[in-house]
Amino acid sequence: MTGSTGPGADVEIREALIAACRDLTRRGLTPGTTGNISVRRDELSFFISPTGTAYEALEPNDIPLVHFDGRWFGRRRPSSEWRFHRDILKARSDAGAIVHTHSRHATALACTGRGIPAFHYMVAVAGGVDIRCASYHTFGSQELSDAAVAAIAGRKACLLANHGVIALGADVSAALTLAGEVEDLAAQYCAALAIGNVQILDENEMHRVVEKFRTYGKPDALDSALTFGGADLPGSV
Ligand code: 13P
Ligand code: ZN
Repeated sequence: MTGSTGPGADVEIREALIAACRDLTRRGLTPGTTGNISVRRDELSFFISPTGTAYEALEPNDIPLVHFDGRWFGRRRPSSEWRFHRDILKARSDAGAIVHTHSRHATALACTGRGIPAFHYMVAVAGGVDIRCASYHTFGSQELSDAAVAAIAGRKACLLANHGVIALGADVSAALTLAGEVEDLAAQYCAALAIGNVQILDENEMHRVVEKFRTYGKPDALDSALTFGGADLPGSV
């Protein structure tokens, strides 16, 4: 029942948001009640996980709706990080959902003030040549939101110094997948740093990879040496 905020409204979006919150816990992507998830409802409002939440116990009517002007509706108070969810959803028309975690390795890196450079070509899954780290500000503050909007500009993910990770996606499943990929990359980067002598890919190569990712996994992916021979397999020669 889109268009109403009463009990039972937008059940599917709220259920998808809860399923994603539970996935965070199941996959070990954020400890305890840390982290939060938002899903855009329309141009001026979004659903967000409630603050201080044990994700297992959530039901659809526990998921509040927040308007961009700061008004909220529902029976549970929105996440303390509603500002950066709002400001990123406002700034980024490509974002349908945002996932915030305190995942282990990404947070460890962020505690050194480091982002993730092009130590591996997969860093391009976040849309650019690196994954930046926003400067530290108190959780829930407008200053943190401003720093996050700047750090995620032109990217789909960023780290937050001494705090965690933000990932966005066209929908909640894409945002969640990216949050997991950022954690995997951070774990690989930490391991490489421990060995030492990490080789950073140059910017031109990373631009090439970003470009290739636009068609990666899609049927129209470009490869001049591959020609489609038909869906049926030919007999052996
Ligand atoms: P909330 O429980 O208010 O969503 O806060 C968790 C968090 O990660 C704060 O940065
Ligand atoms: Zn947090």
